Amino acid sequence: MTPPSAERPSRNGKQPLKLSFEFFPPKTDAMEERFWESVHRLAPLHPRFVSVTYGAGGSTRERTLRMVSQIHAETGIDAAAHITCVGASRDEVDQVIHAYKTAGIKRLVALRGDPPEGVGKPFVAHPQGYKSAAELVAGIRRVGDFDISVAAYPEKHAQSPNWDVEIDNLKRKLDAGASRALTQMFFDNRFYFDLRERAAKAGITAPIVPGIQPIHSFKQISSFAAKCGASMPDWVAERFEGLDEDPETHALVASAVAAEQVIELVDAGVTEFHFLTLNRSNLVLALARLLGVRPD
Ligand code: FAD
Repeated sequence: MTPPSAERPSRNGKQPLKLSFEFFPPKTDAMEERFWESVHRLAPLHPRFVSVTYGAGGSTRERTLRMVSQIHAETGIDAAAHITCVGASRDEVDQVIHAYKTAGIKRLVALRGDPPEGVGKPFVAHPQGYKSAAELVAGIRRVGDFDISVAAYPEKHAQSPNWDVEIDNLKRKLDAGASRALTQMFFDNRFYFDLRERAAKAGITAPIVPGIQPIHSFKQISSFAAKCGASMPDWVAERFEGLDEDPETHALVASAVAAEQVIELVDAGVTEFHFLTLNRSNLVLALARLLGVRPD
């Protein structure tokens, strides 16, 4: 007899897998409808937490707060708010942290953010602002006992001159009080394995959770990837070639590509995943199922 879902072994057959899901705050009523549909479809997977991003330069401050508060109230799932410190004084950022504390939000994803002129432009801190994510983490710690995640970059942040600076910076953020790092999207697992090795050599013991971006639309995701410094391997691009007008085959290929990626990671001992949902649930549901994580 097939055991009930809670007793089925997960893909690695040993440790239960911990999943978290990232959403972005919707801008319109139609987008909000899709947002909630996805949240409600993914909630029965019992993610460890879901997170909601913060628009460039804090442009979605109110919406992010509303979404995380409402997710927590409606689903009971821990919701984490992304927060950035670009373009704001320490006082202004501290006010946002206090607002989360007052709203009962216990998890934050602490980021420096990018300049309003765009990713790739040099970052200039606000004269009275936090100058880096590491300083922001320390600032959050002063306000309250939040569970804090920070960012990590399998292909190195574009502004890091070398890997020593990159890993030092990651260590500084974790030492300042973060519990884990969530990675930028990547499509070649070798980048992640190398990052994990470099971090371990530097004495980093906190989990480095891979950020998995299912390729809902190759056109859209390859453009996002280019903007955030994640390379798209030719072999992935080739698989989607000619599928722009064939959504069904595109979805099947997307599912296979992401499945290959996560299964290789599980086989290499990864037990935590952060799925970048782009407010869509289908591919994430399929991947969770392949990993042995089923809805109630
Ligand atoms: P930091 O860790 O402060 O580092 C940025 C760079 O500066 C690194 O290269 C680092 O090595 C270098 N650096 C820092 N301090 C020093 C120092 N003292 N000396 C030398 N070099 C230094 N952006 C948003 O606007 N909203 C979001 O919601 C959002 N969510 C994200 C979620 C994840 C999982 C990831 C990976 C990124 C996210 N971003 C988001 C993007 C992020 O804001 C940018 O990548 C930004 O450029 C860097 O942020 P950080 O927190 O990594 O910065």
